[in-house]
Amino acid sequence: MSKPKELHRFYKSKAWLVARNIKTNATQGKCERCGAIGEEVHHKIRLTVDNVNDTNISLNQDNLELLCRDCHNKEHGRFKKQEVLFDVFGNFTG
Ligand SMILES: [Zn+2]
Ligand SMILES: [Zn+2]
Repeated sequence: MSKPKELHRFYKSKAWLVARNIKTNATQGKCERCGAIGEEVHHKIRLTVDNVNDTNISLNQDNLELLCRDCHNKEHGRFKKQEVLFDVFGNFTG
């Protein structure tokens, strides 16, 4: 499977960093589910190469959720302690 370059590019974009910061400030840096330290910003509607350029999805604060690593891994069914970016179906899960 080839790397989803569009997604990689998005996660390095300044617009994403700004959106992340806004979300982190709005939630006081806490996981929105358990109150632990939020480390990762999750997209409720999963980002794909088809919607990454749709800012109503990729940068919409309502579509973002600050999560701690545990809650984020649980959300995506990822194994703990593994820095995997792909779920069991091979989908990018950032
Ligand atoms: Zn949490
Ligand atoms: Zn996520």
